Amino acid sequence: MAMDHVEALECTVCGETYDPDAPIYTCPNHDGVTGILEVVYDYDLIDERFDADLDGHIESQWKYEAFLPVDEEAEIVTLGEGGTDLFEAPNLSAELGVETLVKDDGRNPTGCLKDRATSVAVTKAVHADQDVLTCASTGNAAASLAGYAARAGLEARIFVPEDAPAGKLAQPLVYGADVLAVEGSYDEAYDLSVAVTEAYGWYNRNAAINPFQVEGKRTVGHELAEQLHVRGEMADWVAFSMGDGCTIAGAWKGLKEFADLGYVEDTPKLLGVQATGAAAIHDAFHDLPEGEPVAETLADSIAVGRPRNTVKAVRALKESEGTAVRVSDQEILEAEVLLGSTEGIYTEPAGGTALAGVKAAIADGPIEPDETVVVVSTGFGLKDTESARRATGEVTRIEPSIEEVNALYRE
Ligand SMILES: *Cc1c(COP(=O)(O)O)cnc(C)c1O
Ligand SMILES: [Zn+2]
Repeated sequence: MAMDHVEALECTVCGETYDPDAPIYTCPNHDGVTGILEVVYDYDLIDERFDADLDGHIESQWKYEAFLPVDEEAEIVTLGEGGTDLFEAPNLSAELGVETLVKDDGRNPTGCLKDRATSVAVTKAVHADQDVLTCASTGNAAASLAGYAARAGLEARIFVPEDAPAGKLAQPLVYGADVLAVEGSYDEAYDLSVAVTEAYGWYNRNAAINPFQVEGKRTVGHELAEQLHVRGEMADWVAFSMGDGCTIAGAWKGLKEFADLGYVEDTPKLLGVQATGAAAIHDAFHDLPEGEPVAETLADSIAVGRPRNTVKAVRALKESEGTAVRVSDQEILEAEVLLGSTEGIYTEPAGGTALAGVKAAIADGPIEPDETVVVVSTGFGLKDTESARRATGEVTRIEPSIEEVNALYRE
């Protein structure tokens, strides 16, 4: 019973399998590389249990509970994550010259796509009687974990690089978490959180190593498949930005599951987009030589020097017959403003990154003018107003007098 639809945890590096109830995060057989584990399901059982109509009505991601690796008896910790809108984007499409849709995952409860994963991770942590949760984060995972920990009545102790945007540091504090600002990079905060997990036994939500939490990100793929199915056909492309690479890998797994089960006709090609200053997955995909790990971009959510999920992300890009592109910080900021000003959707720089990649792929290939593209806005822009202001310029200051307004607008 319990979690009988989960067959095993399988190492993405050596293929060894583990009991899904074993208290491990990664395959211990490897030095240097991380032996990320993949959750393997019994799809006959899932198919038998999943009886929801694919009618486009999605109240939350728990519509797809049959696919999620939680015990049937577990009490679900939810704030209503998922079920985000897939918007037609006529103004943006006209601007780009290619039919474009936007899935706005910035509308999740704490303002980013990671809530899908956190809801699953915290549900499992509660069911396993854990009472302290931890993660390392460039900002959004910390805020997300803190919010769901508060919801569940658990402690959250989180590690962030000290230069995370102010809005992303305030948010977990409001949710009552201990926020440990590490004097170092995200990669260093990450290593510290793993060491602490081993030393203290806290439940680690880190996207890249906790094999279960990334499974929640599949629901963005399930939703896209359902929403595009209702609209009439699968899109040609779906664009995500990539940091550690878990989001795009999870989304692909979800998209592929629905096609494999025959719920929808087809899968899209994936466009994975990174910032030029943090492009390790892009480089691996294109077989470029591996440089020193650098993470220099204002798109803090994807400022990752050593991505933990390169293997899964590259595999997803290849299986989908998609590709990876990289874009500059300037292009990222311009795209953030383009999305806001054409469609009223305020995305954070990591969301702007996906759109900037689409623009680049329209200009230089491989996106063709007759194709349809979905841009996934992975996070809400209000978390990081500082970087947005670098792209928008300043407000217009005036005296409180009608003459000043006349000077601006009177013909
Ligand atoms: C974390 C994050 C990403 C990248 O996800 P990965 O799984 O690290 O590739 C993209 N956008 C936003 C807003 C994020 O918070
Ligand atoms: Zn292994």
